[in-house]
Amino acid sequence: MKIIMLGAPGAGKGTQAKKIADKYQIPHISTGDIFRANIKEGTELGKKAKSYMDQGLLVPDELTLELIMDRFQNPDCANGYVLDGFPRTIPQAEALTAALEKNGETIDYAINVEVPDENIVTRMSGRRACLACGATYHVVYAPTKTEGVCDRCGEKLVLRDDDKPETVKKRLDVYHSQTQPLIDYYTKQGKLVEVDGTQNVDAVFDAIVKILGA
Ligand code: ADP
Ligand code: AMP
Repeated sequence: MKIIMLGAPGAGKGTQAKKIADKYQIPHISTGDIFRANIKEGTELGKKAKSYMDQGLLVPDELTLELIMDRFQNPDCANGYVLDGFPRTIPQAEALTAALEKNGETIDYAINVEVPDENIVTRMSGRRACLACGATYHVVYAPTKTEGVCDRCGEKLVLRDDDKPETVKKRLDVYHSQTQPLIDYYTKQGKLVEVDGTQNVDAVFDAIVKILGA
């Protein structure tokens, strides 16, 4: 099963992608997580990506595509994957379609998690991230057992640099201008499905499972 998660930053793509990956036994591939891991390790790619991410801008397509095409070579992608945060531009979507077509494949679903902009800033300011294992929490909606410590791996949680309100506003602008057009793109491909992302985490997941099948 090949799935794309669409939606504004903070809509809950990562939260749902992790649950999908667990249930359907496919890898969760987050370009944002891969960039953050590179930043943490101080790689050249990380240095380049950070300058864009900190401003709320997208990392150039060229860099992003190189990274994701490389990730697809990993044997764990043989049975599909859930993509979280990729594609984010029309050229990225076209590159993905072309890469899949080469093997006679297509994606199965592009799931649009719908959350209005008004809810996004609250979600992002309360988000806490584990840079070690990629887990995401929320101080109110998805709290950890011990404050500030990852339930999964015990690392200290951080407020992401790009989750500050002024950067979130920029990221929302970028989302509307560069990523939202993908909704049309996947509607035309007959792949788009929508879920109401304002419900609680479990209700959103139930809606997704209804679409994907139990
Ligand atoms: P995205 O991957 O789309 O940027 P996340 O999955 O990281 O979004 O979610 C953003 C924030 O909102 C996180 O702090 C997460 O815990 C919280 N969150 C996710 N889904 C919900 C939900 N259905 N209701 C309330 N909060 C949520
Ligand atoms: P995310 O973790 O998905 O919220 O992504 C965090 C940041 O990483 C984004 O604001 C972008 O700067 C960058 N990024 C992640 N995925 C992509 C992508 N597919 N294309 C360009 N930039 C990306």
